[in-house]
Amino acid sequence: MLFPSIVYGPIRSRRLGVSLGVNLMPTTAKLCSFDCVYCECGWNQPVSHPQLPTRQQVREALASNLSPFASSPQIDVITFSGNGEPTMHPDFLGIIQDTCALRDQYCPNAKVSVLSNSTQLGRQDVVEALRLCDNRILKLDSAIDSTMRLIDQPVNHQLTVAQVMEWLRIFDGDFTLQTCFLRGEYHGQVIDNTTPHELQAWFQAVDSLHPKQVMIYVIDRATPLQTLEKIPAEQMQAIAEPLRDKGIDVIVSV
Ligand code: SF4
Repeated sequence: MLFPSIVYGPIRSRRLGVSLGVNLMPTTAKLCSFDCVYCECGWNQPVSHPQLPTRQQVREALASNLSPFASSPQIDVITFSGNGEPTMHPDFLGIIQDTCALRDQYCPNAKVSVLSNSTQLGRQDVVEALRLCDNRILKLDSAIDSTMRLIDQPVNHQLTVAQVMEWLRIFDGDFTLQTCFLRGEYHGQVIDNTTPHELQAWFQAVDSLHPKQVMIYVIDRATPLQTLEKIPAEQMQAIAEPLRDKGIDVIVSV
């Protein structure tokens, strides 16, 4: 499923409420630094000259989509997500600055949120942009390298969990940690980030990062890898329970 425009919705998001979506990636193909086995946009496709929207095009599209909502509080959140990883856009910082200004003008109560896979946090401009947002929703699908690589298929094969965690620490806990739990098989390798061994490492990572919120979810739509299985709701609640016992705000989307 690809989003055919820069701005889409508003849609009712199971995790965020009424959301106006923003897609900074091409409208014809997914472009991402991960190639997650569960990605609702499908697998990465080779694109020789990806056409990204310009900062001005994004500003204009947002202004025309936000202005009708100026007098009614129908939008809870402006969400950067779309056909790939939004922070890969070279003008991400400027686009977030524009978005915050347009939000203040038209929908001052709406939050600005970014769903990100955390891979661009080594860039100072991306960190600066994310600090301007109300919600930084940052991915860590496993605290074990081999599982992270199996699930997320990073384009950079050198990426490690330790590196991602070091980047996440920049926010000193002021972010939402997002994790997709799933089971399946990929080229004969078992995928399961719900085993006791996996969860022990993941709980330790959560403890160490102390995010202000944890968002855990299951696959919801068609995935490019057909063998994936949805984790039952009771098991997801059981994963959330030890965190809630420690006072951590956990959102479970099943
Ligand atoms: S990070 Fe998001 S957009 Fe990128 S492959 Fe994974 S699910 Fe898809």
